[in-house]
Amino acid sequence: SGIQTFGTAAALEEPITPPVQVNYTKLLINGQFVDSASGKTFPTLDPRTGEVIAHVSEGDAEDINRAVSAARKAFDEGPWPKMTGYARSRILNRFADLVEEHNDELAALETWDNGKPYEQSAQSEIPTFCRLFRYYAGWADKIHGLVVPADSSHHVQVLHEPIGVAGQIIPWNFPLLMFAWKVGPALACGNTIVLKTAEQTPLTALYAAKLLHEAGLPDGVLNVISGYGPTAGAALASHMDVDKLAFTGSTETGKIVLELAAKSNLKPVTLELGGKSPMIIFDDADVDKAVELAHFALFFNQGQCCCAGSRTFVHEQVYDEFVEKAKARALRRVVGDPFKKGVEQGPQIDDEQFNKVMRYIRSGVGSGATLVSGGDRIGNKGYYIQPTIFSNVKDEMEIAKDEIFGPVQSILKFKDIDEVIRRANASHYGLAAGVFTSNIDKANTLTRALRAGTIWINCFDVFDAAIPFGGYKMSGHGREKGIDSLKNYLQIKAVVTPLKNPAWL
Ligand code: NAD
Repeated sequence: SGIQTFGTAAALEEPITPPVQVNYTKLLINGQFVDSASGKTFPTLDPRTGEVIAHVSEGDAEDINRAVSAARKAFDEGPWPKMTGYARSRILNRFADLVEEHNDELAALETWDNGKPYEQSAQSEIPTFCRLFRYYAGWADKIHGLVVPADSSHHVQVLHEPIGVAGQIIPWNFPLLMFAWKVGPALACGNTIVLKTAEQTPLTALYAAKLLHEAGLPDGVLNVISGYGPTAGAALASHMDVDKLAFTGSTETGKIVLELAAKSNLKPVTLELGGKSPMIIFDDADVDKAVELAHFALFFNQGQCCCAGSRTFVHEQVYDEFVEKAKARALRRVVGDPFKKGVEQGPQIDDEQFNKVMRYIRSGVGSGATLVSGGDRIGNKGYYIQPTIFSNVKDEMEIAKDEIFGPVQSILKFKDIDEVIRRANASHYGLAAGVFTSNIDKANTLTRALRAGTIWINCFDVFDAAIPFGGYKMSGHGREKGIDSLKNYLQIKAVVTPLKNPAWL
């Protein structure tokens, strides 16, 4: 079949030619694709080979200035914030239809730039993207304020207004979905946007933004800047004319942008940061199903998920059986060219992440954890890594504390429920947690006790546009998706009027 399971040299084969062309590589400012002010470009690389896919215009502070001016004008002069919610919803729905029509091209571009399996892009991520835009199209004409009964002599209106120009900075692990989580609610509420994409994955946002203009989005409402964090990203976070900042990425960078926002104009900031999420397996659970779920929770998307179940806690009664079966599952994992049918795992995003993951694997070995499977690269080009499992992992080891962001599963042993609650919560992170048990009391106890923004009981990575997502502790501020994300993009204004105006009496 040509499909390789892990351990074989899948990556040594000739890469499949992606069924798509790169058409958009410039910055999108005020509805036009333009060169960067400096004229500079940077290469975006194919994670399968490390070779250049395309050279993309490199935005920096000057381009951010141009984009913010365009967004400011589009906000202050309209029509976008002044349009009816219904008119905005029509455009967002038309956009979702257009994306659906271009499903396969967008999916191919996403896979090419990011390395994730094409089947995942085509069958899951683009449909989820459309679902998100339709969900927010549904909100666009249902966002309104209220009248509050203050006292008998005043009429009080509470208006919900768009917040203004939103600056949005997104990562590379889900380029299109991060676009949707950010752009969807901001547009539904009537804001204008400057979006800074991740330097590793600039391509699909430009394509999607082009389709959004075809759907009728006025010029200047969404501006897309490709470029690096310390230049373009920092300029956006510290811009005096940006009214709100939304960021997804590492906790380290989250601290930087929060500081930049504070030092400039105190713009409110939402942060979706890292995690070290526990996946807790009790001895009353079906071990085979638990193994499959924990495998998915960690290895999905090459392990590059902020909510990855990266601390697999297994009850001592079933620990040895679990480890054996987890190893067998990892050995069956299909790693290879993400354009090949049936492939479950493609390459990591780039050499930096590849080296970081390999360093953590060495750290696991060095700290005395047992390497159960994997531990090495696959092939000699691109960024493929064997699905790797460590058992006998202790809480204080680096691999149990840090976000590895790669295909490395750490399996820890526990004795009882109070102990596992304490250990699961003993992290600076609090993004998500998974629990696998057939006992409803245990499930309910953990639901209340775990300090994390999402708790998945007997499932993992179940997402929907309507389900809020975000972190406790150092995993972030605020929530995205669902009703809660609208609050990030609205200002609240109280208008107080005397029922009888004395001046006119
Ligand atoms: P990062 O935080 O550096 O990058 C995320 C985004 O922030 C990118 O668009 C980047 O250009 C931008 N950025 C970087 N420095 C900036 C700065 N000084 N000012 C403004 N913007 C800046 O993440 P990374 O380096 O791509 O990955 C590093 C680690 O982050 C990963 O190993 C992983 O642990 C974590 N990560 C988490 C998520 C998530 O979804 N929570 C996503 C990607 C990466």
